[in-house]
Amino acid sequence: MNVENVDKKESLEEQLLVSLEKLLSDYNHEISEGLCAGLNALLSAFKSQGVSLTRQNTEQPVLVFGKANLSRLLEKHIDSHIVEMQKVLHDDLNLDIHLTKSSLINFKLSKVSEYCDNLMNAARSVSLNIELNASYRIVSDLTIIRFFILNIYSLVSDFSFKKCKACFRKILSNKYCWLHKTANVDFYQQTIRVMKFQDLENKNFIENWKNKREWLGDHPNLIPSGMGQHKLMVNEQINSYKNTVAIPHDIYDLVKSFSQVDWKCGKNAIDNFIKSELPMVNTIVEGLTTDADSFSDYVRIIYKPNILDNRYETSTSELWFFFTLLEAEYWFKAEDLAKSVPDLRVKNTLKRDEKIIKLRREGMSLRKISNEVNFSKSLIEKICKNIRNQKL
Ligand SMILES: [Zn+2]
Repeated sequence: MNVENVDKKESLEEQLLVSLEKLLSDYNHEISEGLCAGLNALLSAFKSQGVSLTRQNTEQPVLVFGKANLSRLLEKHIDSHIVEMQKVLHDDLNLDIHLTKSSLINFKLSKVSEYCDNLMNAARSVSLNIELNASYRIVSDLTIIRFFILNIYSLVSDFSFKKCKACFRKILSNKYCWLHKTANVDFYQQTIRVMKFQDLENKNFIENWKNKREWLGDHPNLIPSGMGQHKLMVNEQINSYKNTVAIPHDIYDLVKSFSQVDWKCGKNAIDNFIKSELPMVNTIVEGLTTDADSFSDYVRIIYKPNILDNRYETSTSELWFFFTLLEAEYWFKAEDLAKSVPDLRVKNTLKRDEKIIKLRREGMSLRKISNEVNFSKSLIEKICKNIRNQKL
């Protein structure tokens, strides 16, 4: 058996436990007692059985903890609360929201993303009814179930860390995030064109840390090393066995100052950093540190859909938070630059179309126009048809 793979696997599974425990302690006072007990029981089951998942292409039979088993545990420890919540939503809040049982998702990608988006939308609808006593805990309950599912999914889905090809957002599949889908009408305008305004050096830098993220997982241990040559260039050595990454101590000091025990000081450190280094991000997140009561709480707040919308991110590591912000800044900068420079492609097409329409109105035949502008007859016909449709 490949020793490297074993180390990686163990550390990732350990990380899952660490991040689930952390999540639970963050939400401890906000979620309902029943769910809290259920999640704790789920965690102990993971620990006693060892969170290890059967995977294909493994040379030796490592384990024991397949998806069927996982579904059974979810059914036992989470689904009863989902049924209860469903009752409150229907009977007390009169909300027409349907919550599916978590044991039914089977950790297929399409199901997981749909499931998690449904939980998020349900939490949103419920928060509109926040004045009702029952709704308060339900929002937190839905949120923490969503994070649990996402965390477990990242382990089940073969450790891969996927990121939108264009921006800073974590994705579960495909190449682009939900905001930069290729199916969008303005895909060229909003994605491909903006990407051309991204700095190549930044892009390489981001690609570089993306690989490390995949290797180190959601919660790496950070240790300081010598000073970096460049303030933002991390010249690290990775010790995969201990899941530890050495980073230049100026960056180490900076990111650790975000998550120091005294959140008042952490808050100031974050505010100062964002204000002075990330002006574009600052316009979006300014003042939000006051809404949070801890560093991880803050990270979850600014990743919410109506803010930075990094909805599938499960890590609250200071290092990945730091890189995500840098990358968000690059992306927003590129968007801003693209806005300020006129899009020649669109301008040229407009000019061309205007000329064709003018000739057509003057009664010129399609064939003659085709000779005049050097496009095929069928293309001219298509352009005329498009413009007629637009007018309708
Ligand atoms: Zn994107």
